[in-house]
Amino acid sequence: MSIPLVVLIVEDSENDTQLILRLLRKAGYDLVFERIETAEEMRSALHLRSWDIIISDYSLPQFDGRAALELASTQCPDTPFIVVSGTIGEDNAVAMMKAGAHDYLIKGNLARLGPTVQREIAQSVIRRERRRSEEALRTSEEKYRMLVEQASDAIFLVSFEGYFLDVNPAGCSLTGYSRQEILGAHVRDAMRNLLGIPLYFERLRQGKVLISEREIVRKDGVRIWVEVSATRLSDGNFQGIARDVTQRKQMEQKLRQLSSAVEHGPSSILISNAEGQIEYVNLKFTEVTGFTLEEVLGRTPFDTFGATEMQAEARLQHVQTIRSGRDWHGEMLNLRKNGETYWASVSISPVMDANGSITHFVAVSEDITDRKEAEEKIRRLNAGLERLATTDYLTGLYNRRYFMQRGSEEFKRALRSNHPLSFLMLDVDHFKAVNDTHGHQAGDMALQQVAAALKDGLRETDILGRIGGEEFAVLLPDTQLNDAILLGQRICRSMEVAELSIPGRVLAISLTISVGIAGLEAGMSGIEDVFRNADKALYKAKRNGRNRVMIYRGDHEISGISPAQGLNGAAEDPCHHQPPQ
Ligand code: GH3
Ligand code: MG
Ligand code: MG
Repeated sequence: MSIPLVVLIVEDSENDTQLILRLLRKAGYDLVFERIETAEEMRSALHLRSWDIIISDYSLPQFDGRAALELASTQCPDTPFIVVSGTIGEDNAVAMMKAGAHDYLIKGNLARLGPTVQREIAQSVIRRERRRSEEALRTSEEKYRMLVEQASDAIFLVSFEGYFLDVNPAGCSLTGYSRQEILGAHVRDAMRNLLGIPLYFERLRQGKVLISEREIVRKDGVRIWVEVSATRLSDGNFQGIARDVTQRKQMEQKLRQLSSAVEHGPSSILISNAEGQIEYVNLKFTEVTGFTLEEVLGRTPFDTFGATEMQAEARLQHVQTIRSGRDWHGEMLNLRKNGETYWASVSISPVMDANGSITHFVAVSEDITDRKEAEEKIRRLNAGLERLATTDYLTGLYNRRYFMQRGSEEFKRALRSNHPLSFLMLDVDHFKAVNDTHGHQAGDMALQQVAAALKDGLRETDILGRIGGEEFAVLLPDTQLNDAILLGQRICRSMEVAELSIPGRVLAISLTISVGIAGLEAGMSGIEDVFRNADKALYKAKRNGRNRVMIYRGDHEISGISPAQGLNGAAEDPCHHQPPQ
């Protein structure tokens, strides 16, 4: 079986070449060859292809073995170069070997050519292999070095005993120390907490890959948390890869605090997904509603604890608001698990992701049932107090204070709008006699019935008050004096014939009443002025015999009429005085 061999022969003699070829074929080679005899030819031959072996003469007419060797060792250093010469002396041969020739043979004795080629080919294969693997190692080392240098994670090489052997730039910036400061230092110098370190190294030495979080102290004194992944290397040293996780640690801590605050917070907290399905409720929620997290998980708030009477309205109002990305605050009527309703003050906020899409809703609420009830009680109390403050207890009419306040308001309004205003002052005649004859209780009831009778005869807008024991007053907004006089007459007349019955005892008490009337006049400063004038007219009515209406038109012009008369009747016509029976 022949072995292929590609030979470059540097030789000027055709005969010698044939001899070499014959010997090689004899040694079992299947040859591809080229013979060259100038440097030019050799250059182009080396350029053209690779050669398994170069066999070169020492001295040629236009070239020489030394120059050929030089060309070969620069272009293909691994290719065996064998000198075959008839003239090479001992010294030249040694010089050629020193210059890199692999062997030399004398032309007269070429028996060794076959074995020499064989040996050199084998060695060149070994050389090539070695060179290739060295190259591969160098590239891989370079790659690794670059990776380490450029890695964003800190990488440390630590000796079996725990001393730093190497560190990358990321390791320097993580710790704040320079490479020189780190190299030779011991791992424990960097640790803030040495607890468990011996055991840690023990386990590393056993070949475990350990990932842990540790607090270290930077050169500037700042403590940081690092996540370290450490492993033992085949040479017995350790490699650690570390990264700063301080921010994550702080976030986790904050999150833990927040979670605890939410879980144990004083307000009910509910978190739902974007579809409204409940994902979380806190302890306060369970305390208020009676529902546990398991019972409400995946359900919607409305279906779970919305009071039916509130649902439609509440849904519409707040669902629209929060779906549009805004907060909603309001009060809601909810149901406890036991069926009781309760009022809650609720704030709902949407939670959005980085793209602005709503992912969750957070509802914070307080049970305000007690507050609501207290408010209602206060409202009722206030209403009662207001009635007490404005109303006369016996007749239910406005009391004097409130009547005068309303009077003031009406007075100002009338002045402002330039509208008329009339005022009637009424006093029951000889009322003392009613008490004296029938007793005080009967007197009270009589007063109540007088009040009711007065009220019956008035318009909605008229203001009626009890301003003294048996004294009443009527304020007539937008009313001319003449209309007021007509009303006064009507009241007077109605009293005269009114039968006041008293339950328990059937009594018919006939009463009369005197009326003084005054109106708004230019130059008046307050309702008191109108009041005073009406009082003067009333006084005159009493003086003139009671049961009549007197009208104030000036201090010297107080005219009057008896109830029996029309407006145009005689002013001083006396009314009959009907004594009480
Ligand atoms: P006249 O006004 O016609 O001059 O006689 P009079 O008897 O009505 O006058 P006077 O003002 O002197 O007396 C008013 C009486 O009204 C005194 C009091 O006994 C009685 N009176 C006042 N307030 C009340 C009350 O709230 N209940 C009862 N029962 N009587 C009252
Ligand atoms: Mg009286
Ligand atoms: Mg009186």
